[in-house]
Amino acid sequence: MPPEISYPRRKTKPCRIGNITMGNGHPVVVQSMITEETRNVEACVEQIIDLHKIGCEIVRVTTPTLGEASCLEEIKAKVNELYQDVPMTADVHHQGTKIAIEAAKYVDEIRINPGLFVFKRHGSRGAEIGSEDGDMRGRTEENQTSVEALRAQLAYSETEWNEELAAIEEEFVPVVESCKKFDRAMRVGVNHGSLSERILITYGDTPRGMVESALEYLRICEKHEYYNLNISAKASRVPVMLQANRLMAERMDSEGMNYPLHLGVTEAGDGQYARIKSTAGIATLLMEGIGDTIRVSLAEDPKNEIPVCYEILQATGLRKTQVEYIACPSCGRTKFDLPTVLNEVRSATKHLVGLDIAVMGCIVNGPGEMADADYGYVGAAGGKITLYRKRDVVKTGIPQEQGVEELIGLLKADGVWVEN
Ligand code: SF4
Repeated sequence: MPPEISYPRRKTKPCRIGNITMGNGHPVVVQSMITEETRNVEACVEQIIDLHKIGCEIVRVTTPTLGEASCLEEIKAKVNELYQDVPMTADVHHQGTKIAIEAAKYVDEIRINPGLFVFKRHGSRGAEIGSEDGDMRGRTEENQTSVEALRAQLAYSETEWNEELAAIEEEFVPVVESCKKFDRAMRVGVNHGSLSERILITYGDTPRGMVESALEYLRICEKHEYYNLNISAKASRVPVMLQANRLMAERMDSEGMNYPLHLGVTEAGDGQYARIKSTAGIATLLMEGIGDTIRVSLAEDPKNEIPVCYEILQATGLRKTQVEYIACPSCGRTKFDLPTVLNEVRSATKHLVGLDIAVMGCIVNGPGEMADADYGYVGAAGGKITLYRKRDVVKTGIPQEQGVEELIGLLKADGVWVEN
């Protein structure tokens, strides 16, 4: 095993979601969301089981109305009966009190969106500020000033502000009490694209607005002695998502609210760019020690999200779910067809989870650059292969066609080989 390079993870309280715990030093949890309609119970059950089987540790289900929330009882029971207990989250958005209370009877976590939970519009002022303030790119000093002037003009009075906070508390406390009663977790999940009118007018559609929006709900939870929480601050733009999560961590920690963070880049799209965009957001924060659970949102079959999550966690050294291959890109010095040999080595050894195996094209730079690997397969002069264990040469002069076989022999001799 390579020497572990540890960087400090943000210290958080634990959050228990059914049989999974996140935060407080637990491995980063992988989650996703099903795409079947919640009223189609059979299809949901099948998709939940399929996702869990491939490593999705928490499965989210949309519950737009009370009807869907009621379906969760049957879904949860059938998953248990046909398979096993799977930690499930009910996704609640608009006017969510009754829906969340119903869902809390059946599933392990309730996700609420502070921007929509108590959905109020005061005339057209939110629309005005929203359209002026909706895009932070290319804003000139002049139109920035006009947005600020408009915001000041539309600003909530202290009375209006307090009335709305009181309305939120009145709607939200029954949900908190329900989660306490049934021992459920809650995710307070803010989205850049769905901040409340009051927050939008006061802070703009900014990371600050996202953070303040979540903090209001957290303060109510704490006031009512409910702490089984995690928080998300998602945006479709990576820089906004990064800034929101950093600020969220900083503000929560400064208020003694060290809850776990759920990371994701929302509406990332599909294909390679969606994976790169998600990785840019999620991995950057993980490497700063921020983040306790992740979801890669793809506009594809949710099953495709799970390998991406695990690869992000493997690459950031947070979970080891596959063999780590270190391979040089090859160059004029390469002594063999590196892509072909890498594929041969991979297909022979990919089940040996936990090992680091290097495939390097030449002896000049290869051994130095693969120094952290457990085993090395390195091209040498005369078309031969040299095998390494850590930094030590184990065998030289191996004909190329026997290289993979010899590597397997070495792994067997060392007792690290298992039959596939
Ligand atoms: S390890 Fe050798 S073959 Fe591979 S890229 Fe470096 S110099 Fe080239």
